[in-house]
Amino acid sequence: MEAVAAAAAPVEGREARSLAGEREAFNSLYRPHFEAVYDFVVRIVGEREPATKIVRRVFALAWSTFPEQGNDVAAWLFTTARICALDALRYRRDRNGADREPLHLTRVNGDRVPDATIVFDRALAELVWDAASTLSREDYSLFALHVRHDLSPDAIGEQLGLNGRVSLRLARTREAFDEHVIFRLVAARARHTCGGLDVLVARHDEHELAKHIRRCTRCRETTRAFVSPAAVLGSLAPVAPPPALAREIFKSRPRRRLFGIL
Ligand SMILES: [Zn+2]
Repeated sequence: MEAVAAAAAPVEGREARSLAGEREAFNSLYRPHFEAVYDFVVRIVGEREPATKIVRRVFALAWSTFPEQGNDVAAWLFTTARICALDALRYRRDRNGADREPLHLTRVNGDRVPDATIVFDRALAELVWDAASTLSREDYSLFALHVRHDLSPDAIGEQLGLNGRVSLRLARTREAFDEHVIFRLVAARARHTCGGLDVLVARHDEHELAKHIRRCTRCRETTRAFVSPAAVLGSLAPVAPPPALAREIFKSRPRRRLFGIL
């Protein structure tokens, strides 16, 4: 027995060293995306606890298939996170919400803003996030991949097997989203620039209001003064993950064996 143990030891040592190297390679590729993936997921599901579970699962999947995804892992990682998050929402039971922590979803990241003045425009950030919250989770998550996480429609389409269709869907979402927010801004901040608009705002008729702004030269001119709501959505500061989660996911640990015989 002793002889066997002595002979096996160096092999185990080598295996441990190569696993450590593999873990290091994994961490250097995947760790830089961790915060953004957490932010992406928590904004889809709206709560920390399920977001933590989903992020853990996404990185476990990444580790079990590593290094299959090659070096360009962002598109795979985010689209996998999207699938896991939408799945989790589908099977989620109602919760009483007692353990909910407040999420700070409308802070603005000064490095990403299209216009420096909006950093102080809390009402705009809130309006933009409210509009994002009313999108279906399928549409929001696709839109966020593009405007918050900088994935191109082609990269998303390739991962989701929807080549060519993502661009169109994103363009439609963006158009409806920007119009919805900008029309609200025009109504709230520029109603006195046009008599017709002022009357419709007083009547609270959203449908007529939208029709008016689309047709009225003066109101259309006003809409151009506002920054793109999609860009504001892209500049909302990431929600920070729980500090222990990164330590748990990216610690050096032996790879879980997928097949008992190996
Ligand atoms: Zn008008």
